[in-house]
Amino acid sequence: MVPDGKEGIEKFQSPGKGRGLRACRRFAAGDLALSCPAYACVLTVGERGGHCEGCLSRREGLSKCGKCKKAFYCNVDCQRGDWSMHKLECSAMCAYGEKWSPSETVRLAARIIAKKQKTQLERTVSEKMMLVSELEAHLDKLGNEKKEMMEADIAALHHFYSKHLDFPDHDSLIHLFAQVNCNGFTIEDEQLSHLGSAVFPDVALINHSCCPNVIVTYRGIVAEVRAVKDISPGEEIFTSYIDLLYPTEDRIERLRDSYYFTCNCTECSTKAKDKAKMKIRKLSTPPKQEVIKDMLRYGRNAIEDFRKAKHTKNILLLLICELSLDKMGLVFDDTNVYILHMMYQAMGVCLFMEDWEGALSYGEKIVGPYRLHYPAYSLNVSSVYLKLGRLCLGLEKEVQGVKYLKKAMAIMEVVFGKDHPYHKERMTNSVQRL
Ligand SMILES: [Zn+2]
Ligand SMILES: [Zn+2]
Ligand SMILES: [Zn+2]
Repeated sequence: MVPDGKEGIEKFQSPGKGRGLRACRRFAAGDLALSCPAYACVLTVGERGGHCEGCLSRREGLSKCGKCKKAFYCNVDCQRGDWSMHKLECSAMCAYGEKWSPSETVRLAARIIAKKQKTQLERTVSEKMMLVSELEAHLDKLGNEKKEMMEADIAALHHFYSKHLDFPDHDSLIHLFAQVNCNGFTIEDEQLSHLGSAVFPDVALINHSCCPNVIVTYRGIVAEVRAVKDISPGEEIFTSYIDLLYPTEDRIERLRDSYYFTCNCTECSTKAKDKAKMKIRKLSTPPKQEVIKDMLRYGRNAIEDFRKAKHTKNILLLLICELSLDKMGLVFDDTNVYILHMMYQAMGVCLFMEDWEGALSYGEKIVGPYRLHYPAYSLNVSSVYLKLGRLCLGLEKEVQGVKYLKKAMAIMEVVFGKDHPYHKERMTNSVQRL
């Protein structure tokens, strides 16, 4: 056991929360509190070709795996380093062709099983404070829907990975999938595009708060935890497990659903931001309470409906956004989070359709209210500034573009660190344009 985290944090029993991490020294915003290499990670299928399968770096001119021609690497070292993981999929992808379709959770679980077999009982560098086997599973809280999903995942695991893996018994697999479900991390880039999934056991020790004092970002396959507020020695460190845009009721439901606990952070008890998050439009005759309630229900359903419709044609998606924006706009202010949610989705669709002007106009409406609702150092805010910056530069609005990029960088240098490739890339990009 490593008694104290070398990086100035230690494991402790957090009252009412179980295990947690706390600071042993002072941290200022931007300070690195912890870094943890992935115990196991997987590049999402959609990013193949743009990122190295081994180190997850974003690069041009990667070389293909000669056998499956589906995995790409920076160089021979990355390829060799990844072979023990890639071999689980390489020949299966050739054999199944189009029919090769395990979910990302299944792919990650397969890698964890392989890694466990490889490392046996030895403590890896990702497990200085907590072992993978010690990750919380919350087996007793699983609902039927989740159980069914896990059974389907286990079937897929057997189907696609039987050649190279010795599977543990069924109960152990259920336990593993339950652990991955509540402790798996989604790796995103600086624009919040999904890159893959991973487990970082030490980082999984950090408890949740809707007013977090640290943020987790990724440098290749390493998770980095940086302070986003001043933290005093002895203070517990908290990250946010969820998108913090939404009002208390929504956040609590999400946390209960996915992580099985009720948040009692300051924001959840005071609900201080809820009023602004659900702001009503100023009208000569204010809408009745019933009308507001109905619209809230409509807003929540609209989020769900859009999520379900995600695979339909873009032009239809944009129509869904516009219709719901028109409807909600009768009651909700433009800074209302349900309006913002739909505008953000609309911006995404416009980007996808290469409607740059459309994307820019949605982004400009979003970014101000985002600053209001999100914490000071938020990737949700910096990623919108980044997109706006790039859009403006593309549309030859240089001055405005550089302004946006600078705003993005002011946040990025704290959350990613000044030496992060994402930050450095932007620096050069915007300085060259000045
Ligand atoms: Zn690489
Ligand atoms: Zn291959
Ligand atoms: Zn909370």
